[in-house]
Amino acid sequence: MKSLTEYLEFNVPKRRAFIHITPQVEELVRKSGVQEGLCLVNAMHITASVFINDDEPGLHADYEEWLEKLAPHEPVAHYRHNRTGEDNGDAHLKRQVMGREVVVAVTKGRLDFGPWERIFYGEFDGRRRKRVLVKIIGE
Ligand code: ZN
Repeated sequence: MKSLTEYLEFNVPKRRAFIHITPQVEELVRKSGVQEGLCLVNAMHITASVFINDDEPGLHADYEEWLEKLAPHEPVAHYRHNRTGEDNGDAHLKRQVMGREVVVAVTKGRLDFGPWERIFYGEFDGRRRKRVLVKIIGE
């Protein structure tokens, strides 16, 4: 069995952002040499997500609005979690909704996506260094 483990690094200058990471993951699949297998991509922080959806800016603006309605950042005193001295109670909830990881099949050496599927990193409490794990296993 072949395997490859790598870490992508992010330091998003804003509190929240969605970043398209499919090209980096595709590059790692090529590097792994795996033809048939699985590719796991997961956020290693509890205030960030990895998810699959459409690479369409209107949708990403809709996510931002929807997540702010579900778990508004302000007022920060609204969250019990923020009694610890943090201000990211909303970011933990947003991460839960958008998910921790994705697993994509590797077929004939390529990510086996549906027609509009793309991988995104979702940042909900940025302005610091964070990592995403990519693990590819197979033959
Ligand atoms: Zn926190």
